[in-house]
Amino acid sequence: MNTPTLTECLNQAHTQGMARVDAQMLLLHSLGRPLHDRAWLLSHDNDALTPTQHATWQAALHRRLSGEPVAYITGRKDFFGLTLSVDARVLDPRPDTETLVEWALAVLPATPAPQGLRVLDLGTGSGAVALALQHARPDAQVWAVDASEDALAVARANAQRLNLPVQFVLSDWLAAVPGVFDLIASNPPYVAAGDPHLAALTHEPLQALTSGADGLADIRQIIAQASSHLAPGSWLLLEHGWDQATAVQGLLRQAGFTDVQSRQDLAGVDRCTGGRLTL
Ligand code: GLN
Repeated sequence: MNTPTLTECLNQAHTQGMARVDAQMLLLHSLGRPLHDRAWLLSHDNDALTPTQHATWQAALHRRLSGEPVAYITGRKDFFGLTLSVDARVLDPRPDTETLVEWALAVLPATPAPQGLRVLDLGTGSGAVALALQHARPDAQVWAVDASEDALAVARANAQRLNLPVQFVLSDWLAAVPGVFDLIASNPPYVAAGDPHLAALTHEPLQALTSGADGLADIRQIIAQASSHLAPGSWLLLEHGWDQATAVQGLLRQAGFTDVQSRQDLAGVDRCTGGRLTL
């Protein structure tokens, strides 16, 4: 049987409604090539796939069309310049979360105090935020927490592969975390339990996505617990839903945080809100 060319594969995906960039990444994955090598596809558009590559491509196409994130199919995701291994045990890291990392890096003191710089990522999932921060600030002691042993296994493997000395703790938010920090950052679950948007996210762990009837249950807990774990003047930065900035600002002010403000994601939506504790 003849196998299709690269162009024919991409056309097949297009006909079935797949985004071009997704199809390109899945095709590169099927060919065993680096996922960023899209230019290579263009210069090989008439190459035919081997039967094995074709079988891999068909399987990948099928999984993507049934709604699985590209990252779970390829097993990889680039985040803040790092290539992470990801699978269905963890949330697929979103480019929007780079806003949280950028903000965290901007508020961290340029030079650490003599006792060092302690940074905490709550709900680390694949380890994306903690690893990005540790990579950018080798002088910091970065800790990462998750309540899922499965997620921590993924995050630990990423830390090991990237050779980044993040310390991982199994904890329900701050319950089992010792000490105080110079920064706490979190991308917690924040989707309301009944949100219709969840229908498109069925392949991702639900406990990484939903948080009570209004999506704010975990953010409330984090804000309540963070006060006793922040050094004076230190920031708590939270990612949240597209319509939650005002609510999160209110929760932070109520808890005594000052300098409360928000930052926008790539789509220009207020996506992160933070404040600091000066007492
Ligand atoms: N940003 C994700 C979404 O698309 C949700 C991630 C989260 O809950 N932390 O819905």
